[in-house]
Amino acid sequence: MLAKTIAELSRALRGGELSSVELTRAYLDRIERLNPDLNAYITVCGEQALAQAEDADRRLAAGDTSPVCGIPLAHKDIFCTEGVTTSCGSRMLANFVSPYDATVVEKFNAAGAVTLGKTNMDEFAMGSSNETSYFGPVKNPWDTGRVPGGSSGGSAAAVAADLCAMATGTDTGGSIRQPAAFCGVTGLKPSYGRVSRWGMIAFASSLDQAGPICKSAQDAAIMLNVMAGLDERDSTSVDLTVPDYTASLDQSLEGLRIGIPRQHFAEGLNADVEQAIRAALQEFEKLGATLVDIDLPNNELSISAYYVVAPAEASANLSRFDGVRYGYRCDNPLDLEDMYKRTRSEGFGDEVKRRILVGTYALSAGFYDAYYRKAQQIRRLIKQDFLDAFKQVDVIVGPTSPHAAFQLGAKSDPVAMYLEDIYTIAVNLAGLPAISIPSGQSNGLPVGMHIVAGDFEEARLLNVAHQFQRATDWHSRKPSLSGEDAK
Ligand code: GLN
Repeated sequence: MLAKTIAELSRALRGGELSSVELTRAYLDRIERLNPDLNAYITVCGEQALAQAEDADRRLAAGDTSPVCGIPLAHKDIFCTEGVTTSCGSRMLANFVSPYDATVVEKFNAAGAVTLGKTNMDEFAMGSSNETSYFGPVKNPWDTGRVPGGSSGGSAAAVAADLCAMATGTDTGGSIRQPAAFCGVTGLKPSYGRVSRWGMIAFASSLDQAGPICKSAQDAAIMLNVMAGLDERDSTSVDLTVPDYTASLDQSLEGLRIGIPRQHFAEGLNADVEQAIRAALQEFEKLGATLVDIDLPNNELSISAYYVVAPAEASANLSRFDGVRYGYRCDNPLDLEDMYKRTRSEGFGDEVKRRILVGTYALSAGFYDAYYRKAQQIRRLIKQDFLDAFKQVDVIVGPTSPHAAFQLGAKSDPVAMYLEDIYTIAVNLAGLPAISIPSGQSNGLPVGMHIVAGDFEEARLLNVAHQFQRATDWHSRKPSLSGEDAK
């Protein structure tokens, strides 16, 4: 039962086959059994979840039509949740109980979803393996010696291990798509502005975007229907009609033009991953699509540009954590200066400090033109590459990550870790929507396929992904977790 999709669970709830309370209890039991090892959740809110489930059961009995009513969900611990700790994976906020809900959280609450808890993540969403979390790394349910990807690794692992039916994530450079790929689940990064960032702790504000992590493209459409839309409290959220994302899932792919970027099938790509993606492309051809080779000539600059822009924005955003207003404060400060210094030295982990240093340097008067301005210019060129490509093709397809999940502790060099996002980061710099869906395996580990579309074309992405999932069963494969009864 717990492996079912939102669409299936919703039918069962509505048909009276089970109640939201029963479903919620079952997930909570499974979390209790498996989370001590996987470490996917930082906080579990059992009592609150059961109260929400009772409420949802009443709504369902009264004929509520929301497809997420009564469905158990997990929020990445970057979303503020009223009355529940919101740590952002950091010691700095380990004691922070938010006085309000993020817009995304509010929307799921209003739609009747049940919040099981808050998922583990890289500290302040900085990382690609979940190893920078103050609360310890998450383990990949497919092989607990491996990372789940990051930074939304807790959400992806929770979905993969059936510790929730659906989860939220955020993606600044790949943090929804890469963990989705490593854990064999579906993850969508919407266009910048599609989903409100209000109440989502800021990392790099011009890149951050919230999105769904779930078990199918159809479920991603259901979740995006809840999440998307204008929010007056986020001035970068966009005033564009939100279509019903489930309405176009069944459209045929006959005549779809798929761009294959040469740069995404070049050096550094693991042979198994390449083979899986090429096989998936053949599947698309069977569905009526045509393949077109394209170029994204500035893709190779995307990591360098991102690692100037993102740390620059992070250094400004994280200046608010100073021990004065909320969060961690060092013990017995001698004076104000000592308090700032020790609070930030003790409250932040190494990767966060590294980014603050790089960002402050890049923004400093003497270096602004050389680094920050240059990076912004490159960002424009990267966007132009996509605009040019979309004159010839409807979507762009390639691997999400150069390889499957790697071993915990395998990448101690920060630059090696930064290169993890080589196929995903350009999409954030360009503000475009993209999805990762399971599309093969490498040595028994999931491989993710990355599909990118033009601005605000989430409906097309979901249609393409759904058609692939109707023709294949990669998305329904499950890890076998040790010490667990067969489902
Ligand atoms: N891995 C990238 C980084 O460390 C992206 C993280 C993200 O998307 N939040 O910055």
